[in-house]
Amino acid sequence: MDKMVCKFGGTSLADGNNIRRAAEILLADPARRFAVVSAPGKRFSGDVKVTDLLYASSEECIATGHCGEAFSAIRKRFRSIVEELGLDLDIGRILDETQAGIERERSADFAASRGEYLNARIMAALIGWEFVDAKDIIFFDGRGQFDEARSYPRIASRLEEAGHAVIPGFYGTGADGKIRTFSRGGSDISGSIVARAVNADVYENWTDVSGFLACDPHIVGNPQKIELISFKELRELSYMGANVLHAEAIFPVRKGDIPIKIKNTFRPEDAGTLILPSKKYTPHGNTVTGIAGKKDFTVIFLEKSLMNSEIGFACRALSILERERINFEHMPSGIDTLSLVIESRYLQGGVLERLIAAMREELAPDYIRVSEDIALVATVGHGMAKSIGTSARLFAALSEAGVNVRMIDQGSSELNIIVGIDNADYERGVRAIYHEFFEK
Ligand code: ADP
Ligand code: ASP
Ligand code: MG
Repeated sequence: MDKMVCKFGGTSLADGNNIRRAAEILLADPARRFAVVSAPGKRFSGDVKVTDLLYASSEECIATGHCGEAFSAIRKRFRSIVEELGLDLDIGRILDETQAGIERERSADFAASRGEYLNARIMAALIGWEFVDAKDIIFFDGRGQFDEARSYPRIASRLEEAGHAVIPGFYGTGADGKIRTFSRGGSDISGSIVARAVNADVYENWTDVSGFLACDPHIVGNPQKIELISFKELRELSYMGANVLHAEAIFPVRKGDIPIKIKNTFRPEDAGTLILPSKKYTPHGNTVTGIAGKKDFTVIFLEKSLMNSEIGFACRALSILERERINFEHMPSGIDTLSLVIESRYLQGGVLERLIAAMREELAPDYIRVSEDIALVATVGHGMAKSIGTSARLFAALSEAGVNVRMIDQGSSELNIIVGIDNADYERGVRAIYHEFFEK
């Protein structure tokens, strides 16, 4: 029989009613053996996620030595969940222990992890599955990276022994023995790790939309759903901001060739999106699979006559970034030009000025121009390599919408075309590309 690992996101577990719905989904199919849960998310627009309350509580505790108001709100949330579910669980005692833990540890990671911990305790009590704490099975190494060698065998043997289990997402144990979290949205990574460790047939990711959509639903109302997508396309789209799935969640399942299914907790009957390893994926009809993007980049444009014949020019440019410990996102180049696209948040507090001074001195360019407030939009699809004129259509659509293209980078795999446009044009640009490829 198939073995499935199911991760439920914060909105899917925001209150007692939703938790009950998720429980029904888990119990509806005997192949669903292991559940990975997030902390309760927003119940309505304007609500605060439990994880955010926990970060606030941690700050309060570090400043004053005690959990104050923020923790009272957390108590209320969990008490009402347990009440709504009519659970026989001593949540008062568990919350007291949690508060004592936050006051003792004085660590933001520890505090933030408690939302997942508490929700997993509740789900386990509700469905009668064993609670297996992520701290005992997921480990990080001394550099703070997920420690595969230590974690996978532990997860596999512990979960084999449990048969069925609920595991809190988002955290594990660091090399110093203390609780450590992944980055925000990291329960998707925990789910993927568990799926790989138990060699699941499918990793089900239950959220609040009926699958991966062709673009952000906040920008285009009711975009087309993507039925099938490859890991490569997913990587491009989630890295570029389609935050249905954490950008790093793909790696564990990709190594194990385990398909991911995105499903809607509120409409379980919907087919959702199937994400397949590239070797199991056959491209479908569409030229473009999806569009995603992010704002707030800076482009440093360098021009120098005969740059192409100056050995080591790009290498020296990148070593300046390396010295400042800065990642670059893209590096489109021409014969005598090179652009570096960098997230603007890395360039605050005088860093940009230092970089430019170093580039002037060490690279002696003829010309440097800095463009700030740039958004990147990625148009992604295996189909693009086969259709002639895709980029012409894309640029015509942007130009008709009055969007000025500031930078272009087409990946050599022809899987994506990335354009840099002004932040102010971002939504308009995404709508124009969507309209061109999905509504004509
Ligand atoms: P969860 O709490 O289940 O982890 P997230 O909020 O992290 O859910 O991710 C789901 C949300 O991602 C959706 O509600 C939607 O608003 C947003 N989103 C952004 N881009 C896309 C996209 N291309 N397809 C689907 N959802 C998207
Ligand atoms: N609760 C965590 C967050 O809000 C992790 C997650 O939901 O995946 O980021
Ligand atoms: Mg998420």
